[in-house]
Amino acid sequence: GYDLSGKRVWVAGHRGMVGSAIVRRLERESCKTITAGREIVDLRRQASVEAFVADARPDAIVIAAARVGGIWANDTYPADFLYDNLMIETNIIEAAHRNDVGRLLFLGSSCIYPRMAPQPIREDALLTGALEPTNEWYAIAKIAGIKLAQAYRKQHGRDYISAMPTNLYGPGDNYDLNASHVMPALIRKAHEAKEAGAKEITVWGTGKPLREFLHADDCADALTFLLKHYSGYDHVNVGSGSEISILELTKLVCRVVGFKGQIVHDLSKPDGTPRKLMDSGKLRSMGWTPEITLEDGIEDAYQSFLKHDYALRH
Ligand code: GDP
Repeated sequence: GYDLSGKRVWVAGHRGMVGSAIVRRLERESCKTITAGREIVDLRRQASVEAFVADARPDAIVIAAARVGGIWANDTYPADFLYDNLMIETNIIEAAHRNDVGRLLFLGSSCIYPRMAPQPIREDALLTGALEPTNEWYAIAKIAGIKLAQAYRKQHGRDYISAMPTNLYGPGDNYDLNASHVMPALIRKAHEAKEAGAKEITVWGTGKPLREFLHADDCADALTFLLKHYSGYDHVNVGSGSEISILELTKLVCRVVGFKGQIVHDLSKPDGTPRKLMDSGKLRSMGWTPEITLEDGIEDAYQSFLKHDYALRH
């Protein structure tokens, strides 16, 4: 195991949903969390990252920084998704090695797996087939990140690991409808429809695709667990183990938000991959389990949406 006590842990991407959840979770450990905003370090620039790491001298790094977005954003800004993510992870991992940072956790997502991977998706499905085209840019960058962690372990003996969380949601999510994932999109649409007294909300696609969801706080807990207990070459899936169709999810969100109208489908929008459930058996067998039910999690996300994520911007 890795003892976090007294360690300086740099959480790159601390303003994002996952990064901020990790910062909150690390407050319960006796380590010192280091954060630095865009004005201090530009993660896409090697010189900036090297100067920062040399100066901040972290003992461990969590790479929660990434350019993220839903199905539309990925498809529309392929260069940004590929370039930014490749640069962020390459710059941080190389700077970590050069500055003798002993421990690093790299985060990706479930979209690294082939579109038609057998479900639930095991870690060893990586690179066994073609990717889902709507997010292959992000996926290719994240696969490269896993390979970087493995390469630095293999060549330099670095204890760098990777975790691949499933679809996440929670406080601090992105509610911009053009960039967001389905959960925040549905929360916002249901809320606005309720406020406007609208008769219906529109859901993209057929509503048939199945997705797995994990609350960001559960994810942060799992990542802290991995940081403390996992050391190995292979990446680790981080999921809740339960899946729901987009239509059922829409109904659940409408119930939590209190919107009672109809659900209509916009079939001009893509469904994306038909099913995406990860096999998190490896993490379970190490002794970690999630604690937040989907309904409680949506309620928590909605409260945060009302108090912060949406309220401050509208
Ligand atoms: P994915 O998991 O990588 O496919 O990304 P998303 O979270 O963006 O989309 C998941 C599923 O939800 C897809 O089938 C979308 O078509 C569907 N979906 C339904 N309504 C929406 C919406 O308003 N926004 C988004 N992003 N997805 C939606």
